[in-house]
Amino acid sequence: MGELRVIVAAVLAVLLFMAPAARAELALADSGCGAATGRDGDADAALAQIDRNGCSGLGTMPGERQWMIVSFPDAIELSQSSLLRTKIAHFTRIGVRIDTADGRSVTRSWDPSITQHNRLPTSLFTLPLDVTAPIQRIAVFVDDTQSADALSNVAIVPAEDAAARRTTGALLFALLCGLIAVPILYNLAFLAVLRERFLVWHIAMAGSILVYAATASGLMLELFPALSLRARMEVLHWSFGASISAGAVFLTCYVERSSLSPRMLFLLRAAAAWAILVNLALSFAPLSTPADFDLLHDAGLGVVMLVTIAAITQALRRGSRAAIFVAAGWSIIILSLLDRLARAFGFYDAPLFFNDVLYFGLAFETVVTALGVAGRFLAIRRERDRACEHAETMERLAETDPLTGILNRRALQRHYEQGAPPIAVALVDLDHFKGINDAHGHDVGDRVLRIAAQALDGSGANIAGRMGGEEFVLLLYGSRPERTAEQLRQAITARVARHVPGLDRPVTASMGLVRPSPEADFEAVCAAADRLLYAAKADGRNRLVGAPPSALGVAA
Ligand code: GH3
Ligand code: MG
Ligand code: MG
Repeated sequence: MGELRVIVAAVLAVLLFMAPAARAELALADSGCGAATGRDGDADAALAQIDRNGCSGLGTMPGERQWMIVSFPDAIELSQSSLLRTKIAHFTRIGVRIDTADGRSVTRSWDPSITQHNRLPTSLFTLPLDVTAPIQRIAVFVDDTQSADALSNVAIVPAEDAAARRTTGALLFALLCGLIAVPILYNLAFLAVLRERFLVWHIAMAGSILVYAATASGLMLELFPALSLRARMEVLHWSFGASISAGAVFLTCYVERSSLSPRMLFLLRAAAAWAILVNLALSFAPLSTPADFDLLHDAGLGVVMLVTIAAITQALRRGSRAAIFVAAGWSIIILSLLDRLARAFGFYDAPLFFNDVLYFGLAFETVVTALGVAGRFLAIRRERDRACEHAETMERLAETDPLTGILNRRALQRHYEQGAPPIAVALVDLDHFKGINDAHGHDVGDRVLRIAAQALDGSGANIAGRMGGEEFVLLLYGSRPERTAEQLRQAITARVARHVPGLDRPVTASMGLVRPSPEADFEAVCAAADRLLYAAKADGRNRLVGAPPSALGVAA
């Protein structure tokens, strides 16, 4: 698990590196007051509104101008380079009015292209303040917004912080995307070797996380500068939905069989389909307010998260090893989401970089599950190699004659049909073998058969096999097969004499040899050799009879 330690260390180092970027910043939304006016309302109209009705929440209404107004009874002094920084959200116009202590006020507004020009990593952008006098009040407005993000995240930051964030952020997110891309590449390579479904789903999951991280961090805008805010939002929610959907299906085929109950498998698949439905609704349903969008997004996809967490828990309890990787991978994401939830409820404040932890969590998850996938891949390959070995052993056993250990008839036929065509085929039969059995017993007969097999086997490229009983076949490949066959035939007698003592007479063999033409089949060749063998027996045994030119496509 050396790799795991390296990854954890790298992620921590990156987070520490990122921390200084979150220095002295002044969050405004907490002390701000919300209001809504018509599209042409100015800050005075918004203030009158607040006088009449009090502060409202930070709103999100198409067709309206939403305001966030912060007053500083003790005017605050800012360095000239201070910027307003907030989150990219959908809007048609954004603006600020700054009232200074010397009684002047400056109003400025921008169209959405400001988000591209002044973009910072992870969906942030800045607006210039350009004031030197102490500030008494800041009023920020957005038109037709679909999310309160642009108002609820406003903060005043020193320009150096924004610049630092721009450079380190871009670098870190490029690194992050690279980190996510690597497992995709090597899973593609694995896939070429092993067609496992979980590899496909891991690629789908990592691919959509990559798109999500690249889009959220702004790298996507470097690649496609013309990407509209609307398109960017679609890409964000589709890639996020696709990643948790693919993640759920990935779980079904990645964890060991029986680690998940049939009901849990069904729930995971249903959750994956549900995530797609939620995304379709987010893209196409006529949602009246962005709050509906957020609710549908969080509740809809939250269900998928819950099912996934329940499935991981079940697999862990059933002792799944694969689930350990998934659980470890998800740990940072879950902590980050809990952190966001806790902050949403106002339990504590955290520096901005806490938001970025989620992206690192996503990268971490991809890499850790990728390690698990690699482990799983290797295990499957080991299993497959073992199965292949087993199959080979079975094959060998099926082609071996159990008494003598040389090839059997089946193997001889396979060699004859699938291997190189032999120059000659010889049929060998021991002479008066029945007599050996009768005189010395079956065990001695068996021993003679084994020694005869050894005498025939292992002569160069030639192949020997036992046809059954005391009958053997030689497939001869050398240039002078008759001579080789004759030597082997005589070797039987010599070897048996040496290794089987106490026989009353020499054990001899008769042989019929044919040179088959290429189209002759095994049966026909054996039948032809058998006729010659019969001739050898009739001629007085202990001899080889070669074929004269004859029928059956079997030439001498
Ligand atoms: P020939 O010279 O005409 O070939 O006479 P033979 O006695 O060799 O031929 P025959 O076909 O009459 O007898 C073959 C004998 O081989 C009969 C059978 O009991 C014996 N035999 C067959 N298989 C085995 C075996 O696996 N082990 C032993 N010990 N004997 C076997
Ligand atoms: Mg015989
Ligand atoms: Mg026989």
